[in-house]
Amino acid sequence: MKVVKTSDKRLIFYCEGCENTHGVNNAWNFNGNFENPTFSPSILVKGTRPITDDEHEGIMSGEKIEPEKFVCHSFVRDGNVQYLNDCTHELAGQTVELRDEAEWSKE
Ligand SMILES: [Zn+2]
Repeated sequence: MKVVKTSDKRLIFYCEGCENTHGVNNAWNFNGNFENPTFSPSILVKGTRPITDDEHEGIMSGEKIEPEKFVCHSFVRDGNVQYLNDCTHELAGQTVELRDEAEWSKE
C-alpha cells in the first residue's frame, strides 16, 4: 500500500521531496486504489522547516534565525507523485513513484 488511512480518516502518503508524510482529507477525490492512488485536485503544502537543535540553541542565546520556508505542490496520480515547479525541494518538476508504506510507516 502506498497510502494509509489514519484513524481520523485522513489519507497519508510519503513525500520523498519533504522526507515527510502529507495527508489529504475528504475534500479530495480519491480513486479508492491504495496501491495506485490518484488524488485530485493537487496537494499544496506550505510551511516552515522545523528548526534544528543548533538553531534552537542559537535563538535561545539571542541569535536572529529566520526559519526557512518551504512549498511542496504535487499531483498524486496512479501511484506517482508529480511535483510541480513551485516546490522548494529538489524534486521540483519531477515525477517519482510513491513509496510503499512498509518503508515509512513505523507505528
Ligand atoms: Zn512534500
